[in-house]
Amino acid sequence: MDMYRSLEHWRELPAKHQPAWPDPDEVRRAAVYLRSMPPLVFAGEADTLKAEIAKAGRGEAFILQGGDCAETFADSVSANRIRAKIQTILQMAIVLTYGAALPIVKIGRMAGQYAKPRSNPMETRDGVELPAYMGDAVNGHDFTPEDRIPDPQRMIDAYHRSATTLNLIRAFTGGGFADMSEVHAWNKGFTENPAYKKYETIAADIDWALRFMKAAGIDSPAVRTVDMYSSHEALLLEYENAMTRIDQRTSEPYNTSAHFLWIGERTREWDGAHVDLLSRVRNPIGVKLGPTSTVDDALRLMDKLNPDGEEGRLTFITRLGASQIRDLLPSLVEGVTKDGRPVTWVTDPMHGNTITATNGYKTRRMEDVVDEVQGFFEVHNALGTVPGGVHIELTGDSVTEVLGGSEELSEEILSQRYETLVDPRLNHGQSLELAFLVSQMLRA
Ligand code: PEP
Ligand code: MN
Repeated sequence: MDMYRSLEHWRELPAKHQPAWPDPDEVRRAAVYLRSMPPLVFAGEADTLKAEIAKAGRGEAFILQGGDCAETFADSVSANRIRAKIQTILQMAIVLTYGAALPIVKIGRMAGQYAKPRSNPMETRDGVELPAYMGDAVNGHDFTPEDRIPDPQRMIDAYHRSATTLNLIRAFTGGGFADMSEVHAWNKGFTENPAYKKYETIAADIDWALRFMKAAGIDSPAVRTVDMYSSHEALLLEYENAMTRIDQRTSEPYNTSAHFLWIGERTREWDGAHVDLLSRVRNPIGVKLGPTSTVDDALRLMDKLNPDGEEGRLTFITRLGASQIRDLLPSLVEGVTKDGRPVTWVTDPMHGNTITATNGYKTRRMEDVVDEVQGFFEVHNALGTVPGGVHIELTGDSVTEVLGGSEELSEEILSQRYETLVDPRLNHGQSLELAFLVSQMLRA
Protein backbone atom coordinates (compact mmCIF):
# COMPACT_ATOMS: atom_id res chain seq x y z
CA MET A 1 0.00 0.00 0.00
CA ASP A 2 1.42 3.43 -0.78
CA MET A 3 1.63 5.84 2.11
CA TYR A 4 -1.27 8.07 1.10
CA ARG A 5 -3.57 5.10 0.69
CA SER A 6 -2.43 3.50 3.93
CA LEU A 7 -3.24 6.73 5.79
CA GLU A 8 -6.86 6.26 4.69
CA HIS A 9 -7.03 2.57 5.59
CA TRP A 10 -8.90 3.34 8.81
CA ARG A 11 -11.95 4.10 6.67
CA GLU A 12 -12.33 0.38 6.01
CA LEU A 13 -12.27 -0.55 9.70
CA PRO A 14 -14.88 -0.41 12.46
CA ALA A 15 -14.84 3.05 14.05
CA LYS A 16 -16.49 3.57 17.41
CA HIS A 17 -17.81 6.81 18.88
CA GLN A 18 -17.98 8.81 15.66
CA PRO A 19 -20.62 11.53 15.36
CA ALA A 20 -23.63 10.90 13.13
CA TRP A 21 -22.77 13.84 10.86
CA PRO A 22 -25.96 14.64 8.96
CA ASP A 23 -24.26 15.61 5.68
CA PRO A 24 -21.19 13.71 4.42
CA ASP A 25 -20.44 16.44 1.85
CA GLU A 26 -20.09 19.01 4.60
CA VAL A 27 -17.69 16.70 6.43
CA ARG A 28 -15.61 16.40 3.27
CA ARG A 29 -15.56 20.16 2.80
CA ALA A 30 -14.45 20.68 6.40
CA ALA A 31 -11.68 18.11 5.94
CA VAL A 32 -10.49 19.79 2.73
CA TYR A 33 -10.36 23.12 4.56
CA LEU A 34 -8.44 21.65 7.51
CA ARG A 35 -6.00 19.99 5.17
CA SER A 36 -5.30 23.39 3.57
CA MET A 37 -4.44 24.96 6.93
CA PRO A 38 -0.98 25.10 8.56
CA PRO A 39 0.03 22.41 11.05
CA LEU A 40 -0.40 23.28 14.73
CA VAL A 41 2.81 21.55 15.78
CA PHE A 42 6.07 20.77 14.03
CA ALA A 43 7.09 17.14 13.59
CA GLY A 44 10.48 17.87 15.15
CA GLU A 45 8.75 18.93 18.37
CA ALA A 46 6.87 15.64 18.47
CA ASP A 47 10.21 13.85 18.11
CA THR A 48 11.68 15.86 20.99
CA LEU A 49 8.71 14.93 23.15
CA LYS A 50 9.13 11.29 22.15
CA ALA A 51 12.70 11.41 23.45
CA GLU A 52 11.45 12.98 26.71
CA ILE A 53 8.81 10.27 27.11
CA ALA A 54 11.51 7.67 26.47
CA LYS A 55 13.44 9.18 29.38
CA ALA A 56 10.36 8.93 31.59
CA GLY A 57 10.09 5.27 30.60
CA ARG A 58 13.65 4.73 31.82
CA GLY A 59 13.13 6.62 35.08
CA GLU A 60 15.17 9.64 33.98
CA ALA A 61 12.18 12.01 33.84
CA PHE A 62 8.56 12.09 35.05
CA ILE A 63 5.50 13.03 33.00
CA LEU A 64 2.82 15.44 34.18
CA GLN A 65 -0.11 15.45 31.78
CA GLY A 66 -3.09 17.56 32.78
CA GLY A 67 -6.00 19.68 31.73
CA ASP A 68 -9.75 19.62 31.23
CA CYS A 69 -11.80 16.55 30.56
CA ALA A 70 -13.34 18.62 27.76
CA GLU A 71 -12.08 22.04 26.75
CA THR A 72 -14.86 24.39 25.69
CA PHE A 73 -15.06 27.06 23.01
CA ALA A 74 -16.37 29.43 25.68
CA ASP A 75 -13.24 29.03 27.83
CA SER A 76 -10.94 29.19 24.80
CA VAL A 77 -11.49 32.94 24.60
CA SER A 78 -10.56 33.50 28.24
CA ALA A 79 -6.85 34.22 28.53
CA ASN A 80 -7.31 34.19 32.32
CA ARG A 81 -8.64 30.67 32.43
CA ILE A 82 -6.00 29.32 30.09
CA ARG A 83 -3.30 31.12 32.05
CA ALA A 84 -4.65 29.69 35.32
CA LYS A 85 -4.45 26.20 33.89
CA ILE A 86 -0.91 26.65 32.59
CA GLN A 87 0.06 28.23 35.91
CA THR A 88 -1.37 25.26 37.83
CA ILE A 89 0.55 22.77 35.69
CA LEU A 90 3.79 24.76 36.10
CA GLN A 91 3.28 25.04 39.86
CA MET A 92 2.70 21.29 40.09
CA ALA A 93 5.77 20.69 37.95
CA ILE A 94 8.07 22.63 40.29
CA VAL A 95 6.86 20.64 43.27
CA LEU A 96 7.30 17.39 41.36
CA THR A 97 10.75 18.38 40.09
CA TYR A 98 11.82 18.86 43.66
CA GLY A 99 10.28 15.57 44.85
CA ALA A 100 11.58 13.49 41.98
CA ALA A 101 14.86 15.34 41.45
CA LEU A 102 14.07 14.66 37.81
CA PRO A 103 12.98 16.78 34.86
CA ILE A 104 9.21 16.94 34.59
CA VAL A 105 7.78 16.48 31.10
CA LYS A 106 4.83 18.88 30.94
CA ILE A 107 1.99 17.91 28.62
CA GLY A 108 -1.26 19.89 28.60
CA ARG A 109 -4.53 18.11 27.98
CA MET A 110 -5.04 21.35 26.12
CA ALA A 111 -5.23 23.04 22.72
CA GLY A 112 -7.40 20.36 21.12
CA GLN A 113 -9.28 18.39 23.79
CA TYR A 114 -12.63 19.07 22.13
CA ALA A 115 -14.14 15.64 21.39
CA LYS A 116 -15.62 13.17 23.85
CA PRO A 117 -16.78 9.56 23.60
CA ARG A 118 -20.11 9.11 25.40
CA SER A 119 -21.54 5.94 26.95
CA ASN A 120 -24.89 6.64 25.31
CA PRO A 121 -24.98 8.31 21.86
CA MET A 122 -28.44 9.71 22.64
CA GLU A 123 -29.77 11.65 25.59
CA THR A 124 -33.41 11.79 26.63
CA ARG A 125 -34.97 14.57 28.67
CA ASP A 126 -38.69 14.85 29.36
CA GLY A 127 -39.44 12.44 26.53
CA VAL A 128 -37.28 14.35 24.02
CA GLU A 129 -34.38 12.42 22.52
CA LEU A 130 -31.35 14.23 21.05
CA PRO A 131 -27.74 13.26 20.30
CA ALA A 132 -25.55 13.34 23.42
CA TYR A 133 -23.03 16.14 23.77
CA MET A 134 -19.77 14.91 22.22
CA GLY A 135 -17.54 17.90 22.84
CA ASP A 136 -17.47 21.34 21.24
CA ALA A 137 -15.73 20.01 18.11
CA VAL A 138 -18.91 18.05 17.36
CA ASN A 139 -21.99 19.71 18.82
CA GLY A 140 -23.19 22.19 21.43
CA HIS A 141 -24.04 21.45 25.05
CA ASP A 142 -27.49 23.07 25.12
CA PHE A 143 -30.28 20.53 24.91
CA THR A 144 -31.77 21.83 21.64
CA PRO A 145 -31.76 20.24 18.17
CA GLU A 146 -29.83 23.26 16.82
CA ASP A 147 -27.03 22.66 19.28
CA ARG A 148 -27.02 18.89 19.47
CA ILE A 149 -27.06 17.97 15.76
CA PRO A 150 -23.37 17.35 14.91
CA ASP A 151 -21.94 20.19 12.80
CA PRO A 152 -18.68 19.61 10.85
CA GLN A 153 -18.01 23.36 10.88
CA ARG A 154 -17.19 22.86 14.57
CA MET A 155 -14.08 20.85 13.65
CA ILE A 156 -12.80 23.96 11.88
CA ASP A 157 -13.66 26.06 14.89
CA ALA A 158 -11.81 23.56 17.11
CA TYR A 159 -8.72 23.90 14.91
CA HIS A 160 -8.66 27.71 15.22
CA ARG A 161 -9.28 27.64 18.96
CA SER A 162 -6.56 25.03 19.41
CA ALA A 163 -4.23 27.37 17.54
CA THR A 164 -4.94 30.34 19.82
CA THR A 165 -4.62 28.22 22.97
CA LEU A 166 -1.36 26.71 21.78
CA ASN A 167 -0.08 30.17 20.96
CA LEU A 168 -0.81 31.27 24.51
CA ILE A 169 0.94 28.20 25.91
CA ARG A 170 3.99 28.95 23.80
CA ALA A 171 3.91 32.62 24.81
CA PHE A 172 3.54 32.01 28.53
CA THR A 173 6.09 29.22 28.77
CA GLY A 174 8.70 30.92 26.61
CA GLY A 175 8.20 34.53 27.64
CA GLY A 176 9.37 34.75 31.23
CA PHE A 177 6.05 33.77 32.82
CA ALA A 178 7.50 30.35 33.62
CA ASP A 179 10.47 31.70 35.60
CA MET A 180 11.01 29.19 38.40
CA SER A 181 11.22 31.74 41.20
CA GLU A 182 7.98 33.36 40.04
CA VAL A 183 6.22 30.04 39.81
CA HIS A 184 7.40 29.14 43.25
CA ALA A 185 6.19 32.47 44.62
CA TRP A 186 2.67 31.39 43.57
CA ASN A 187 3.14 28.19 45.56
CA LYS A 188 3.70 30.28 48.66
CA GLY A 189 0.21 31.70 48.16
CA PHE A 190 -1.06 28.14 48.23
CA THR A 191 0.57 27.20 51.54
CA GLU A 192 -0.74 30.40 53.12
CA ASN A 193 -4.20 28.82 52.97
CA PRO A 194 -4.64 27.20 56.44
CA ALA A 195 -5.95 24.00 54.81
CA TYR A 196 -2.65 23.51 53.03
CA LYS A 197 -0.34 24.71 55.80
CA LYS A 198 1.05 21.18 56.19
CA TYR A 199 2.92 21.60 52.90
CA GLU A 200 4.71 24.70 54.13
CA THR A 201 7.89 22.82 54.99
CA ILE A 202 8.30 21.34 51.52
CA ALA A 203 7.54 24.74 49.99
CA ALA A 204 10.21 26.29 52.23
CA ASP A 205 12.68 23.58 51.16
CA ILE A 206 12.00 24.35 47.50
CA ASP A 207 12.48 28.02 48.25
CA TRP A 208 15.84 27.27 49.83
CA ALA A 209 16.89 25.19 46.82
CA LEU A 210 16.01 28.06 44.48
CA ARG A 211 17.94 30.54 46.64
CA PHE A 212 20.90 28.21 46.61
CA MET A 213 20.79 28.06 42.82
CA LYS A 214 20.62 31.83 42.59
CA ALA A 215 23.49 32.30 45.02
CA ALA A 216 25.58 29.76 43.14
CA GLY A 217 24.97 31.73 39.93
CA ILE A 218 22.92 28.98 38.31
CA ASP A 219 20.86 30.96 35.85
CA SER A 220 20.39 28.89 32.73
CA PRO A 221 17.49 29.44 30.32
CA ALA A 222 16.02 26.27 31.84
CA VAL A 223 15.27 28.26 34.98
CA ARG A 224 13.34 30.88 33.04
CA THR A 225 11.53 29.03 30.26
CA VAL A 226 9.95 25.61 29.99
CA ASP A 227 8.72 23.30 27.27
CA MET A 228 5.09 22.47 27.45
CA TYR A 229 3.50 20.13 24.94
CA SER A 230 -0.07 19.72 23.73
CA SER A 231 -2.19 16.58 23.72
CA HIS A 232 -5.75 15.38 23.28
CA GLU A 233 -7.72 12.20 22.72
CA ALA A 234 -7.57 11.37 19.00
CA LEU A 235 -11.26 10.57 18.80
CA LEU A 236 -12.58 12.38 15.72
CA LEU A 237 -11.12 10.43 12.85
CA GLU A 238 -11.97 12.99 10.15
CA TYR A 239 -10.23 15.74 12.10
CA GLU A 240 -7.16 13.70 13.00
CA ASN A 241 -6.87 12.41 9.46
CA ALA A 242 -7.06 15.92 7.98
CA MET A 243 -4.33 17.09 10.36
CA THR A 244 -2.01 14.23 9.37
CA ARG A 245 0.76 15.48 7.12
CA ILE A 246 3.98 14.17 5.61
CA ASP A 247 6.99 15.74 7.32
CA GLN A 248 9.31 17.19 4.73
CA ARG A 249 12.46 16.42 6.72
CA THR A 250 11.83 12.72 7.11
CA SER A 251 9.06 11.95 4.58
CA GLU A 252 7.21 10.33 7.49
CA PRO A 253 3.59 11.08 8.43
CA TYR A 254 2.88 13.02 11.62
CA ASN A 255 -0.36 14.07 13.22
CA THR A 256 0.15 17.84 13.40
CA SER A 257 -2.90 18.60 15.59
CA ALA A 258 -0.91 17.99 18.80
CA HIS A 259 2.42 16.71 19.99
CA PHE A 260 0.97 13.71 21.82
CA LEU A 261 -2.24 11.89 20.93
CA TRP A 262 -3.94 9.21 22.93
CA ILE A 263 -6.53 6.58 22.18
CA GLY A 264 -9.25 6.29 24.82
CA GLU A 265 -10.34 3.18 26.66
CA ARG A 266 -13.49 3.02 24.51
CA THR A 267 -11.80 3.07 21.11
CA ARG A 268 -8.63 1.09 21.74
CA GLU A 269 -9.55 -2.07 19.76
CA TRP A 270 -6.27 -3.19 18.21
CA ASP A 271 -8.03 -3.90 14.89
CA GLY A 272 -10.17 -0.76 14.93
CA ALA A 273 -9.95 2.51 13.02
CA HIS A 274 -8.38 4.63 15.80
CA VAL A 275 -5.45 2.31 16.40
CA ASP A 276 -4.90 1.97 12.64
CA LEU A 277 -4.82 5.73 12.01
CA LEU A 278 -2.36 6.37 14.84
CA SER A 279 -0.26 3.33 13.96
CA ARG A 280 0.73 5.19 10.78
CA VAL A 281 1.99 8.46 12.30
CA ARG A 282 5.28 8.99 14.07
CA ASN A 283 4.14 11.03 17.09
CA PRO A 284 4.40 9.64 20.59
CA ILE A 285 1.09 7.85 21.26
CA GLY A 286 -0.78 6.89 24.41
CA VAL A 287 -3.42 4.24 24.97
CA LYS A 288 -5.71 4.22 27.99
CA LEU A 289 -6.05 0.82 29.63
CA GLY A 290 -9.11 0.23 31.82
CA PRO A 291 -9.85 -2.61 34.25
CA THR A 292 -10.91 -5.11 31.58
CA SER A 293 -7.58 -4.82 29.71
CA THR A 294 -5.63 -8.05 29.34
CA VAL A 295 -1.95 -8.67 28.68
CA ASP A 296 -3.02 -9.94 25.29
CA ASP A 297 -4.73 -6.60 24.52
CA ALA A 298 -1.58 -4.77 25.52
CA LEU A 299 0.66 -6.98 23.38
CA ARG A 300 -1.56 -6.62 20.32
CA LEU A 301 -1.52 -2.86 20.79
CA MET A 302 2.26 -2.97 20.94
CA ASP A 303 2.34 -5.06 17.75
CA LYS A 304 0.23 -2.46 15.96
CA LEU A 305 1.51 0.77 17.46
CA ASN A 306 5.12 0.02 18.21
CA PRO A 307 6.17 -3.18 16.45
CA ASP A 308 9.86 -2.29 16.50
CA GLY A 309 9.95 -1.25 20.13
CA GLU A 310 10.94 2.39 19.60
CA GLU A 311 11.50 4.00 22.99
CA GLY A 312 9.06 6.78 23.86
CA ARG A 313 6.67 5.86 21.09
CA LEU A 314 4.06 4.09 23.24
CA THR A 315 2.68 5.09 26.61
CA PHE A 316 0.14 2.98 28.46
CA ILE A 317 -2.08 5.18 30.59
CA THR A 318 -3.74 2.87 33.12
CA ARG A 319 -7.06 3.94 34.66
CA LEU A 320 -7.97 0.99 36.80
CA GLY A 321 -9.59 2.50 39.89
CA ALA A 322 -8.13 2.84 43.37
CA SER A 323 -9.79 -0.34 44.57
CA GLN A 324 -8.41 -2.46 41.72
CA ILE A 325 -5.03 -1.09 40.74
CA ARG A 326 -3.08 -3.24 43.19
CA ASP A 327 -4.79 -6.37 41.86
CA LEU A 328 -4.84 -5.60 38.15
CA LEU A 329 -1.71 -3.62 37.37
CA PRO A 330 0.96 -6.19 38.35
CA SER A 331 0.03 -8.80 35.72
CA LEU A 332 -0.33 -6.16 33.00
CA VAL A 333 3.08 -4.71 33.77
CA GLU A 334 4.67 -8.14 34.06
CA GLY A 335 3.22 -9.35 30.77
CA VAL A 336 4.34 -6.23 28.93
CA THR A 337 7.77 -6.22 30.55
CA LYS A 338 8.32 -9.86 29.54
CA ASP A 339 7.73 -8.86 25.91
CA GLY A 340 10.82 -6.68 26.09
CA ARG A 341 9.64 -3.80 23.90
CA PRO A 342 9.67 -0.64 26.01
CA VAL A 343 6.57 1.25 27.07
CA THR A 344 6.19 4.22 29.38
CA TRP A 345 3.70 3.68 32.20
CA VAL A 346 1.47 6.57 33.26
CA THR A 347 -1.39 6.51 35.76
CA ASP A 348 -4.72 8.23 35.15
CA PRO A 349 -6.19 8.17 38.68
CA MET A 350 -9.36 9.96 37.55
CA HIS A 351 -11.37 7.75 35.20
CA GLY A 352 -11.50 4.59 37.29
CA ASN A 353 -12.80 6.55 40.28
CA THR A 354 -15.90 8.31 38.98
CA ILE A 355 -18.94 8.11 41.28
CA THR A 356 -22.36 9.70 41.55
CA ALA A 357 -22.91 11.79 44.68
CA THR A 358 -26.14 11.33 46.62
CA ASN A 359 -27.30 14.65 45.15
CA GLY A 360 -26.75 13.39 41.61
CA TYR A 361 -23.44 15.07 40.72
CA LYS A 362 -20.87 13.07 38.78
CA THR A 363 -17.81 13.37 41.00
CA ARG A 364 -14.66 11.71 42.32
CA ARG A 365 -13.06 11.51 45.74
CA MET A 366 -9.68 13.11 46.16
CA GLU A 367 -8.71 10.24 48.50
CA ASP A 368 -9.37 7.70 45.72
CA VAL A 369 -7.33 9.75 43.27
CA VAL A 370 -4.41 9.87 45.72
CA ASP A 371 -4.82 6.19 46.56
CA GLU A 372 -4.66 5.12 42.90
CA VAL A 373 -1.42 7.09 42.41
CA GLN A 374 -0.07 5.50 45.59
CA GLY A 375 -1.02 2.05 44.28
CA PHE A 376 0.68 2.84 40.96
CA PHE A 377 3.95 3.60 42.77
CA GLU A 378 3.61 0.55 45.03
CA VAL A 379 3.10 -1.85 42.12
CA HIS A 380 5.95 -0.47 40.02
CA ASN A 381 8.30 -0.31 42.96
CA ALA A 382 7.50 -3.91 43.90
CA LEU A 383 8.12 -5.10 40.32
CA GLY A 384 11.22 -3.00 39.79
CA THR A 385 9.53 -1.26 36.83
CA VAL A 386 9.28 2.47 36.25
CA PRO A 387 6.32 4.67 37.23
CA GLY A 388 6.61 7.19 34.40
CA GLY A 389 4.03 9.84 35.15
CA VAL A 390 0.52 11.00 36.02
CA HIS A 391 -2.43 12.04 33.84
CA ILE A 392 -4.84 14.35 35.62
CA GLU A 393 -8.11 16.15 34.85
CA LEU A 394 -7.68 19.59 36.34
CA THR A 395 -8.47 23.26 36.02
CA GLY A 396 -6.76 26.37 37.34
CA ASP A 397 -10.01 27.71 38.76
CA SER A 398 -11.65 27.21 42.14
CA VAL A 399 -14.35 24.90 40.88
CA THR A 400 -16.16 22.44 43.15
CA GLU A 401 -16.27 19.18 41.24
CA VAL A 402 -14.12 16.65 43.15
CA LEU A 403 -14.89 15.71 46.78
CA GLY A 404 -12.42 15.92 49.64
CA GLY A 405 -8.86 17.12 49.85
CA SER A 406 -7.62 19.23 52.73
CA GLU A 407 -10.27 21.85 52.02
CA GLU A 408 -12.77 19.04 52.66
CA LEU A 409 -15.02 19.75 49.74
CA SER A 410 -18.37 18.15 50.59
CA GLU A 411 -21.34 16.97 48.54
CA GLU A 412 -23.32 20.05 49.57
CA ILE A 413 -20.62 22.31 48.14
CA LEU A 414 -20.51 20.58 44.72
CA SER A 415 -23.35 22.73 43.37
CA GLN A 416 -21.51 26.00 44.14
CA ARG A 417 -19.15 25.91 41.18
CA TYR A 418 -19.75 22.72 39.23
CA GLU A 419 -18.75 23.90 35.76
CA THR A 420 -17.42 20.92 33.85
CA LEU A 421 -19.43 19.79 30.84
CA VAL A 422 -18.27 16.18 31.16
CA ASP A 423 -16.02 14.83 33.95
CA PRO A 424 -15.18 16.40 37.34
CA ARG A 425 -11.75 18.09 37.54
CA LEU A 426 -9.42 18.76 40.44
CA ASN A 427 -9.53 22.47 41.22
CA HIS A 428 -6.41 24.61 41.56
CA GLY A 429 -5.85 23.80 45.25
CA GLN A 430 -6.58 20.09 44.87
CA SER A 431 -4.18 19.89 41.92
CA LEU A 432 -1.38 21.45 43.93
CA GLU A 433 -2.14 19.27 46.92
CA LEU A 434 -1.89 16.21 44.66
CA ALA A 435 1.47 17.47 43.39
CA PHE A 436 2.78 17.81 46.96
CA LEU A 437 1.55 14.29 47.81
CA VAL A 438 3.01 12.75 44.64
CA SER A 439 6.23 14.61 45.30
CA GLN A 440 6.43 12.83 48.67
CA MET A 441 5.74 9.48 46.98
CA LEU A 442 8.50 10.17 44.46
CA ARG A 443 10.95 10.88 47.23
CA ALA A 444 10.05 7.85 49.30
C1 PEP B 1 -11.04 10.93 29.19
O1 PEP B 1 -9.80 10.92 29.23
O2 PEP B 1 -11.70 11.95 29.41
C2 PEP B 1 -11.73 9.66 28.90
C3 PEP B 1 -12.88 9.61 28.27
O3 PEP B 1 -11.06 8.62 29.42
P1 PEP B 1 -11.11 7.05 29.10
O4 PEP B 1 -10.42 6.88 27.78
O5 PEP B 1 -10.30 6.49 30.20
O6 PEP B 1 -12.53 6.61 29.08
MN1 MN C 1 -12.71 12.59 31.31
